[in-house]
Amino acid sequence: MSKIWERYRAAVFRNCTHPDSDKDTIAYWKNYLFASAVLYLIPLSIIAVVPGMYMAYISELYLLFFVDFAAIGSFFAIAFLPGISIQIRKLIFCLAIYGVSLALLYTLGSFGPGLLYLLALSIFVVLILDELYGIINVYLNIVICALFGILIEFNVGGSAFTIEYSVLQWFGVSVNLIFLSAVSAFLIPKLFNGLETAFLMRREVDNELQDSLKLLEIKNRELEDFAYTASHDLKEPLRMVRSFSELLKKRQEKNLDEKSLEYIHFIVDGAKRMNQLIEDLLEFSRVGRMYKDVQKVNINDILQDIKTQLQQNPLLIQGEIIYTEMPVIEAVPLSIKILFQNLISNGLKFHPKEKIPRVELIYDEHPDKWVFSVKDNGIGIDKIYHESIFQLFNRLHTSEEYSGTGLGLAICKKIVEQHGGEIWVESEPGKGSTFHFTISKGLSENKIDISDSGSI
Ligand code: ADP
Repeated sequence: MSKIWERYRAAVFRNCTHPDSDKDTIAYWKNYLFASAVLYLIPLSIIAVVPGMYMAYISELYLLFFVDFAAIGSFFAIAFLPGISIQIRKLIFCLAIYGVSLALLYTLGSFGPGLLYLLALSIFVVLILDELYGIINVYLNIVICALFGILIEFNVGGSAFTIEYSVLQWFGVSVNLIFLSAVSAFLIPKLFNGLETAFLMRREVDNELQDSLKLLEIKNRELEDFAYTASHDLKEPLRMVRSFSELLKKRQEKNLDEKSLEYIHFIVDGAKRMNQLIEDLLEFSRVGRMYKDVQKVNINDILQDIKTQLQQNPLLIQGEIIYTEMPVIEAVPLSIKILFQNLISNGLKFHPKEKIPRVELIYDEHPDKWVFSVKDNGIGIDKIYHESIFQLFNRLHTSEEYSGTGLGLAICKKIVEQHGGEIWVESEPGKGSTFHFTISKGLSENKIDISDSGSI
């Protein structure tokens, strides 16, 4: 049954609406209302009008019988006949209702629903057609009322209608119809005009927003390209400063006094730190460039690689990294590695001298995402810094206390956002920290656009 209804509905809407028209227009909703009216009117008229037609036939009200029959026929034609424009369908629809109203009025007088139909039609005309048709409808109602007045005056046809009223009584009744149809012809278009303006304003705002987003995307890419090129180009002169300072120290060690050697040491140390900063900046801008490479990534392999790599770092070598079987997820492999690497090495790095650092990794699977947590037993972070530590160059310690550039967590945030996720920390000073982050599922099905999030 529901399949028949669906097919019937599809046919009516195919013929009575423009499928590709813009929903943000009054024209679309006028057609939608018209199609819905036709959709329900056909089954309702079969239920209500057909028995009415039978009664009209046996009561020998042949005019009513014929007009009802023609109206139902025209509803079917409007709904199913191909090759007719929507405007013509609407006009046929209105004419059919006019026909039924007039036949009812003529045959049954004010006992029948004729006047009510005429009034309903006056409203419906303004709802589905243009403003002009509302005005035409008012004039038509005037003509109809005048015609019926003539019928009464000359007692034409001897119907219920002509017998029921005197001309003056009819004038009193019909003026109400004309008044109400004029009110609807005047007021309803005002509402539509207001709505149309609201639609237009919304579209303008939408367009402006889209333009701004495009511009922002271009600017971000330009900025990323700039950061990449600038960092790349800076490395070469820096390498020269460093290597020539070292050469100078080597060659002139015997001739230079202690103070000069100390200055050279500062130059070399500064160059080293600058080099690290450039490396991190390059990594930060590189993250934005590897966005398309979503693959299946086995987190166990990634963690094994990180462990091997960390074993070569004398500062982080004595820490413990604990985890049980980790999942295989869809992500950008290199980005995910950088993400885990930064969080794990931070967990090992920021700990008091007397404690052996320990980092524990756990995960949780949700229908739409993975949640990973990296927990350490380190120095912890005060609540007031829980958000700011994810910003570029934000450090809570000097490089004498703990080495670093303040870019690690900003890179992590960028990577997580590119994977449609979020990153946050739970921590208290002296009680260790737990960094949580989420990675969306279904990235390879392009459910999430990871191309333009988390820029510089
Ligand atoms: P970096 O490690 O280069 O200093 P990050 O962006 O990785 O830069 O971290 C920013 C700051 O956040 C760090 O300087 C540190 O003060 C704090 N922080 C990061 N991770 C931890 C952690 N696991 N425990 C305590 N503090 C941390």
